[in-house]
Amino acid sequence: MHEMLSVEEARALVLETVPRQPAERVALEDTLGRTLAEPIRSRDTIPPFDNSAMDGYAVRAADLADLPAVLRVIEEIPAGSFPEKEVQPGTCAQIMTGAPFPAGADAVAPVEWTAKAGDGRVRFLQGPAPGQHVRPAGEDVQVGDLMIEAGAVVTPPALGMMATLGFSEAQVASAPRVAVISTGDELVAVSASLGPGQIRNSNGPALAVQVVTAGGRALPPLLARDNKESIRRVIEEALEADVLLFSGGVSVGEYDLVRKVLDEMGMRLLFWRVRQRPGKPLAFGTLEEKIIFGLPGNPVSSAMCFEQYVRPALAQMLGRKEVRRPLHPATLAAPTPKKAGLHYFARGVAAFDDEGRLTVRDTGPQASNLYSSVVRANCIFHLPETLEAAPAGLPVELEWLLW
Ligand code: AMP
Ligand code: MG
Repeated sequence: MHEMLSVEEARALVLETVPRQPAERVALEDTLGRTLAEPIRSRDTIPPFDNSAMDGYAVRAADLADLPAVLRVIEEIPAGSFPEKEVQPGTCAQIMTGAPFPAGADAVAPVEWTAKAGDGRVRFLQGPAPGQHVRPAGEDVQVGDLMIEAGAVVTPPALGMMATLGFSEAQVASAPRVAVISTGDELVAVSASLGPGQIRNSNGPALAVQVVTAGGRALPPLLARDNKESIRRVIEEALEADVLLFSGGVSVGEYDLVRKVLDEMGMRLLFWRVRQRPGKPLAFGTLEEKIIFGLPGNPVSSAMCFEQYVRPALAQMLGRKEVRRPLHPATLAAPTPKKAGLHYFARGVAAFDDEGRLTVRDTGPQASNLYSSVVRANCIFHLPETLEAAPAGLPVELEWLLW
């Protein structure tokens, strides 16, 4: 009954289904990496007053037309003070970088152009042009300027700009809470020694940190065994999350019970299976307002499906302006296996060649159980569904894996 979707159809369905997170107010220091839920508009003029760009003397440029010239110093203006006097012809004020610029003056002569002449006087060997070394009020920011858009991720300079503008708090999207649920009778904890037939649960820890790098909050990890009771119990615990992220148990195997249990609990299944490699048996649905992803258990599939669907979903929930990593045109440097009918998320190593062109080659065998193919990659390159082969020289699109 559920037809297999294309990658684009599946991603579009995910993005139109996920809800927006509410906003919360946080202290400026806690905004790094968060998504702004309000635009940052300036309530001030920056700089707030005309000020000096140099340590030196505020002068009337016309007084220094004939050099050398000597002027009388009427006051000293350190940063944080305010000038009391007006600079009249034949006079100047000593001024420090960032200090307010005095009335009457029109330029700053840096201290390097001067020599003390004794008796409160200064000799000028060089003169500034009118306006030189003066930073006018509002040169950087005007009142009402839109400095950072809603939906932007707060970077260190964005945080610095908010500080400049007096935002000691900001509205950010609250982080979606994500329950990472590993499933399988074969799984043991990372710290355990392996018994016969056992493997370590690697998807659990890896997905949890993928969640964090995508702006989500990973709840304490959950593990379900391959029986309905265990799966049901874990789901009930996971329902406090906004997103339930299963790995394993969604394929067509005898023990792939996650979907069956979710169906019994009333999940609205929106798609199951996508025309892609790796990750064909990807499931997506909703249960009681919760978003459900059933990622295939193979570590490569789980990692790639997270990057292609879950990361954009979390970005959309956060209200980010950009929900996908940008795609860059590149050239395939060596052939890589490809058959028509499935979109491939190939793991690649990209580099600029001697002519400055971006080239990419695969990381070696691309089977969905070979996790080293992900670990070695610095990018994912896309091979569209209809493509029948991927020879060297093929133009492709890639996204950098900048974790
Ligand atoms: P499944 O989707 O449950 O059929 O699992 C497919 C493959 O992925 C099997 O080889 C599993 O052992 C493996 N696998 C499933 N879950 C995990 C996990 N959490 N960590 C590592 N490998 C897993
Ligand atoms: Mg399994």
